[in-house]
Amino acid sequence: MIVNLAKSAGFCSGVKRAIDIALKTADSGEKVYMLGDIVHNEDVVRDIQQAGIKKINRLGNGKGKSLLIRAHGSSLRNLLKAIKAGYKIFDATCPMVKEIHRIAKEMESAGFRIIIIGDKDHDEVRGIAGQLKQKAIVIDNIKNVPQESLKKIKKACVVVQSTQNIDKALQILGRIKPFVKDLRFFNTICRPTRLKQNEIKALPVKNNVVIVIGSRNSANTKRLYEISKSLNKNTYRVNSKEEIRREWFRGAKKVGITAGASTPDQTTQEIIKYIKQLGSKR
Ligand code: SF4
Repeated sequence: MIVNLAKSAGFCSGVKRAIDIALKTADSGEKVYMLGDIVHNEDVVRDIQQAGIKKINRLGNGKGKSLLIRAHGSSLRNLLKAIKAGYKIFDATCPMVKEIHRIAKEMESAGFRIIIIGDKDHDEVRGIAGQLKQKAIVIDNIKNVPQESLKKIKKACVVVQSTQNIDKALQILGRIKPFVKDLRFFNTICRPTRLKQNEIKALPVKNNVVIVIGSRNSANTKRLYEISKSLNKNTYRVNSKEEIRREWFRGAKKVGITAGASTPDQTTQEIIKYIKQLGSKR
């Protein structure tokens, strides 16, 4: 059984950078706090906590404390609140998310209403919307395009959550177009996501079985799984080797493996080793 690992599997540059900043900050002796989890992966969250970084659900008195802004950013309101509360800020927002903030703010200043194609409850989407003066329109699904609200808008600018599926985003854009006269579109899906999505279109076609590794609450892992499953029904999503079933590989000659942007290499390597062992026992 041949195992083919996608080149783009695992941590993206933004997650790597955020983890590095988090560990360096903790190493420097700062009391570091984080609003929520650094990324959507249980193993990474555990390592970060073991390094001494504490997760909080709301801001408290920040005197003598440092607050780490996660890869997917924060709203301006939360950032200012944290500064006011006395926290020293360590910003690990991914530069590609910052670029979306910049575009949204500039286009709003130029008189455009901002439309975000993305998951309504995702931190990144909240962070983008939270940079703006006017309420952003967030569209998560082609069925939820608010036609009546769009008819009232003359100028709109569409940005996309960095980890969205480009095909879905373009479908939504097509549904928005007839309603807004002056519509500007910025494809803000980040480079690592694009690379992952291109690879995941080939992996299920070239392999008999596809294993997508990542946490259940990781949005980008879910998207990779959905794309792969639509092309190859023998696609499985796992977060550890314990979830793998021997029968998935019956008769399989080639196994394709990819991993979400928040999946550590160690988890991927353990799973590859396990699958190779299964293959050698057949
Ligand atoms: S998925 Fe893209 S935007 Fe998000 S942290 Fe990774 S590189 Fe940055």
